[in-house]
Amino acid sequence: MARRKKSRKPPPKRKVIQPLDIVFNCPFCNHEKSCDVKLDHTRKTGYISCNVCLEDYQTPINALSEPVDVYGDWIDACESANS
Ligand SMILES: [Zn+2]
Repeated sequence: MARRKKSRKPPPKRKVIQPLDIVFNCPFCNHEKSCDVKLDHTRKTGYISCNVCLEDYQTPINALSEPVDVYGDWIDACESANS
């Protein structure tokens, strides 16, 4: 008794654009791939945090921002904080 859905074609599978699994090395504890980036386009904020040392950072993003931009901002912020 499987109910059939309306005969709509399934949406074509796009390439995975959602950069949810982008991970970076942590500039604090130097663990590899311990930092996740989340892009919240609703709030125009990018978040990055390290799973190991729990350092985190957030930065304003725009529609074109990518995880690597958030990471780059974080690195810049670290460097300017250290100088
Ligand atoms: Zn870390």
